[in-house]
Amino acid sequence: MSEFVIAPPPQPCAPVAGGGLFPVRRIFCVGQNYADHAREMGGDPQRNPPFFFTKPADALAVNGADAPYPSRTRNLHHEIELVVALAKGAQNIAPAAAEKLIFGYAAGIDLTRRDLQADAKKAGRPWDMAKGFDVSAPLGPIRPLDETGRITKGFIRLSLNGAPRQNGDLADMIWSVAEILAILSTYVTLAPGDLIFTGTPAGVGPALVGDLLHGEIEGVGEVATRIV
Ligand code: MN
Repeated sequence: MSEFVIAPPPQPCAPVAGGGLFPVRRIFCVGQNYADHAREMGGDPQRNPPFFFTKPADALAVNGADAPYPSRTRNLHHEIELVVALAKGAQNIAPAAAEKLIFGYAAGIDLTRRDLQADAKKAGRPWDMAKGFDVSAPLGPIRPLDETGRITKGFIRLSLNGAPRQNGDLADMIWSVAEILAILSTYVTLAPGDLIFTGTPAGVGPALVGDLLHGEIEGVGEVATRIV
Protein backbone atom coordinates (compact mmCIF):
# COMPACT_ATOMS: atom_id res chain seq x y z
CA MET A 1 0.00 0.00 0.00
CA SER A 2 1.27 3.42 -0.92
CA GLU A 3 2.35 5.84 1.81
CA PHE A 4 1.83 8.86 -0.42
CA VAL A 5 -0.79 11.11 1.17
CA ILE A 6 -1.64 12.70 -2.18
CA ALA A 7 -1.15 11.27 -5.66
CA PRO A 8 2.52 11.67 -6.63
CA PRO A 9 2.96 14.34 -9.34
CA PRO A 10 3.56 13.02 -12.86
CA GLN A 11 7.17 12.71 -14.01
CA PRO A 12 7.91 15.52 -16.52
CA CYS A 13 9.28 14.01 -19.73
CA ALA A 14 10.68 15.20 -23.03
CA PRO A 15 10.34 13.20 -26.25
CA VAL A 16 13.48 11.85 -27.91
CA ALA A 17 13.78 12.13 -31.69
CA GLY A 18 13.34 8.61 -33.04
CA GLY A 19 11.34 7.43 -30.05
CA GLY A 20 11.40 7.19 -26.30
CA LEU A 21 10.98 9.61 -23.42
CA PHE A 22 13.65 11.46 -21.47
CA PRO A 23 12.60 11.88 -17.80
CA VAL A 24 13.44 15.42 -16.66
CA ARG A 25 14.86 16.02 -13.20
CA ARG A 26 15.82 19.74 -13.14
CA ILE A 27 16.12 22.62 -15.59
CA PHE A 28 19.13 24.90 -15.27
CA CYS A 29 19.59 28.01 -17.43
CA VAL A 30 22.61 30.19 -18.18
CA GLY A 31 22.24 33.98 -18.32
CA GLN A 32 23.82 36.22 -20.98
CA ASN A 33 26.01 33.66 -22.76
CA TYR A 34 26.25 35.45 -26.12
CA ALA A 35 28.03 38.83 -26.24
CA ASP A 36 25.46 40.44 -28.57
CA HIS A 37 22.60 39.47 -26.24
CA ALA A 38 24.52 40.58 -23.12
CA ARG A 39 24.93 43.96 -24.83
CA GLU A 40 21.23 44.27 -25.74
CA MET A 41 20.33 43.52 -22.09
CA GLY A 42 22.68 46.23 -20.85
CA GLY A 43 25.01 43.57 -19.43
CA ASP A 44 28.74 43.09 -19.75
CA PRO A 45 29.79 41.13 -22.87
CA GLN A 46 33.15 40.30 -21.27
CA ARG A 47 33.98 36.76 -20.22
CA ASN A 48 32.71 37.07 -16.67
CA PRO A 49 31.92 33.78 -14.92
CA PRO A 50 28.54 32.43 -16.08
CA PHE A 51 25.53 32.75 -13.79
CA PHE A 52 22.65 30.33 -13.47
CA PHE A 53 18.95 30.25 -12.70
CA THR A 54 16.37 27.48 -12.82
CA LYS A 55 12.90 26.60 -14.04
CA PRO A 56 10.70 23.85 -12.59
CA ALA A 57 10.82 20.60 -14.58
CA ASP A 58 7.05 20.80 -15.07
CA ALA A 59 7.40 24.17 -16.87
CA LEU A 60 8.23 22.17 -20.01
CA ALA A 61 5.94 22.33 -23.05
CA VAL A 62 6.66 19.47 -25.47
CA ASN A 63 5.32 18.18 -28.79
CA GLY A 64 4.60 21.71 -30.01
CA ALA A 65 2.18 22.40 -27.17
CA ASP A 66 0.69 25.89 -26.87
CA ALA A 67 2.00 28.28 -24.22
CA PRO A 68 -0.65 30.36 -22.47
CA TYR A 69 0.27 34.06 -22.25
CA PRO A 70 1.35 34.22 -18.59
CA SER A 71 -0.37 36.30 -15.94
CA ARG A 72 1.20 39.42 -14.38
CA THR A 73 3.28 40.51 -17.36
CA ARG A 74 2.91 42.92 -20.24
CA ASN A 75 6.18 41.97 -21.86
CA LEU A 76 6.58 38.24 -22.57
CA HIS A 77 9.87 37.62 -24.44
CA HIS A 78 11.21 34.70 -26.48
CA GLU A 79 14.79 33.38 -26.11
CA ILE A 80 15.85 30.53 -28.41
CA GLU A 81 18.47 28.29 -26.77
CA LEU A 82 20.51 25.14 -27.27
CA VAL A 83 19.44 22.72 -24.54
CA VAL A 84 21.70 19.94 -23.27
CA ALA A 85 20.18 16.79 -21.74
CA LEU A 86 22.30 14.79 -19.28
CA ALA A 87 22.47 11.00 -19.14
CA LYS A 88 24.96 10.99 -16.26
CA GLY A 89 25.68 12.97 -13.13
CA ALA A 90 28.90 14.50 -11.85
CA GLN A 91 30.41 16.91 -9.37
CA ASN A 92 33.43 19.21 -9.81
CA ILE A 93 34.34 17.96 -13.24
CA ALA A 94 36.80 19.42 -15.75
CA PRO A 95 35.44 20.67 -19.10
CA ALA A 96 37.20 17.76 -20.83
CA ALA A 97 35.04 15.31 -18.84
CA ALA A 98 31.74 17.09 -19.54
CA GLU A 99 30.89 15.49 -22.86
CA LYS A 100 30.64 12.07 -21.24
CA LEU A 101 27.58 13.30 -19.33
CA ILE A 102 25.56 14.35 -22.37
CA PHE A 103 22.62 12.29 -23.60
CA GLY A 104 21.69 14.69 -26.37
CA TYR A 105 20.65 18.16 -27.48
CA ALA A 106 17.38 19.95 -28.19
CA ALA A 107 16.13 23.36 -29.25
CA GLY A 108 14.28 25.15 -26.46
CA ILE A 109 12.70 28.53 -25.77
CA ASP A 110 13.33 30.33 -22.48
CA LEU A 111 10.09 32.31 -22.18
CA THR A 112 10.64 35.33 -19.95
CA ARG A 113 8.46 37.92 -18.23
CA ARG A 114 10.89 40.68 -19.20
CA ASP A 115 9.16 43.39 -17.17
CA LEU A 116 9.29 41.32 -13.98
CA GLN A 117 12.93 40.43 -14.69
CA ALA A 118 13.81 44.12 -15.07
CA ASP A 119 12.02 44.91 -11.77
CA ALA A 120 13.85 42.05 -10.03
CA LYS A 121 17.23 43.19 -11.36
CA LYS A 122 16.57 46.74 -10.18
CA ALA A 123 15.50 45.58 -6.73
CA GLY A 124 18.22 42.92 -6.41
CA ARG A 125 15.52 40.26 -6.07
CA PRO A 126 15.35 36.67 -7.43
CA TRP A 127 14.33 35.98 -11.04
CA ASP A 128 12.11 32.98 -10.29
CA MET A 129 8.77 34.60 -11.15
CA ALA A 130 10.30 36.18 -14.28
CA LYS A 131 11.69 32.87 -15.57
CA GLY A 132 10.15 29.86 -13.84
CA PHE A 133 6.43 30.34 -14.48
CA ASP A 134 3.98 27.75 -15.86
CA VAL A 135 4.79 26.58 -19.41
CA SER A 136 7.89 28.78 -19.57
CA ALA A 137 10.06 26.13 -21.26
CA PRO A 138 8.90 24.95 -24.71
CA LEU A 139 11.24 22.17 -25.86
CA GLY A 140 11.69 20.33 -29.14
CA PRO A 141 12.62 16.63 -29.39
CA ILE A 142 15.97 15.66 -27.86
CA ARG A 143 18.42 14.34 -30.43
CA PRO A 144 20.92 11.84 -29.02
CA LEU A 145 24.60 12.74 -29.06
CA ASP A 146 25.47 9.57 -30.97
CA GLU A 147 23.47 11.02 -33.90
CA THR A 148 24.46 14.68 -33.66
CA GLY A 149 28.10 14.37 -32.61
CA ARG A 150 29.47 17.11 -30.41
CA ILE A 151 27.66 20.40 -31.14
CA THR A 152 29.94 23.46 -31.00
CA LYS A 153 28.84 25.60 -33.95
CA GLY A 154 25.96 26.11 -36.36
CA PHE A 155 23.03 28.47 -36.74
CA ILE A 156 20.56 29.08 -33.93
CA ARG A 157 17.52 31.07 -34.97
CA LEU A 158 13.94 31.93 -34.13
CA SER A 159 11.12 33.30 -36.21
CA LEU A 160 7.87 34.88 -35.06
CA ASN A 161 4.92 34.25 -37.40
CA GLY A 162 7.51 33.39 -40.07
CA ALA A 163 9.49 36.63 -39.69
CA PRO A 164 13.13 36.27 -38.55
CA ARG A 165 13.74 37.55 -35.01
CA GLN A 166 16.87 35.87 -33.62
CA ASN A 167 19.78 34.65 -35.69
CA GLY A 168 23.08 33.62 -34.15
CA ASP A 169 25.75 30.96 -34.19
CA LEU A 170 26.50 28.48 -31.43
CA ALA A 171 30.21 29.24 -31.93
CA ASP A 172 29.53 32.69 -30.42
CA MET A 173 28.70 31.35 -26.97
CA ILE A 174 30.84 33.10 -24.36
CA TRP A 175 31.06 29.83 -22.38
CA SER A 176 31.02 26.52 -24.24
CA VAL A 177 28.69 23.65 -23.29
CA ALA A 178 31.63 21.79 -21.73
CA GLU A 179 32.66 24.84 -19.68
CA ILE A 180 29.07 25.46 -18.57
CA LEU A 181 28.66 21.87 -17.35
CA ALA A 182 32.02 21.99 -15.56
CA ILE A 183 31.25 25.27 -13.78
CA LEU A 184 27.65 24.28 -12.96
CA SER A 185 29.01 21.04 -11.45
CA THR A 186 30.92 23.12 -8.90
CA TYR A 187 27.62 24.61 -7.65
CA VAL A 188 25.39 21.52 -7.68
CA THR A 189 25.77 17.79 -8.21
CA LEU A 190 24.61 17.25 -11.77
CA ALA A 191 22.31 14.27 -12.23
CA PRO A 192 20.80 12.15 -15.00
CA GLY A 193 17.65 13.87 -16.26
CA ASP A 194 18.98 17.41 -15.89
CA LEU A 195 18.43 19.86 -18.76
CA ILE A 196 20.63 22.91 -19.26
CA PHE A 197 19.45 25.89 -21.35
CA THR A 198 22.69 27.45 -22.57
CA GLY A 199 21.71 31.05 -23.29
CA THR A 200 20.31 33.01 -26.20
CA PRO A 201 21.74 35.15 -29.01
CA ALA A 202 20.57 38.72 -29.70
CA GLY A 203 17.16 39.58 -31.06
CA VAL A 204 14.98 38.72 -28.08
CA GLY A 205 11.65 40.47 -28.17
CA PRO A 206 7.97 40.37 -27.30
CA ALA A 207 5.48 37.66 -28.23
CA LEU A 208 1.73 38.29 -28.15
CA VAL A 209 -1.34 36.06 -27.98
CA GLY A 210 -1.71 34.25 -31.31
CA ASP A 211 1.97 34.48 -32.24
CA LEU A 212 3.72 31.33 -33.49
CA LEU A 213 7.31 30.94 -32.30
CA HIS A 214 9.50 28.62 -34.34
CA GLY A 215 13.11 27.93 -33.46
CA GLU A 216 15.72 25.90 -35.26
CA ILE A 217 19.26 24.83 -34.39
CA GLU A 218 21.61 23.43 -37.00
CA GLY A 219 22.27 19.73 -36.51
CA VAL A 220 19.88 19.54 -33.55
CA GLY A 221 16.30 20.22 -34.55
CA GLU A 222 13.33 22.48 -34.09
CA VAL A 223 10.94 23.78 -31.46
CA ALA A 224 7.58 25.43 -32.00
CA THR A 225 4.91 26.86 -29.75
CA ARG A 226 1.94 29.15 -30.15
CA ILE A 227 1.17 31.78 -27.52
CA VAL A 228 -2.51 31.43 -26.61
MN1 MN B 1 17.71 32.61 -21.47
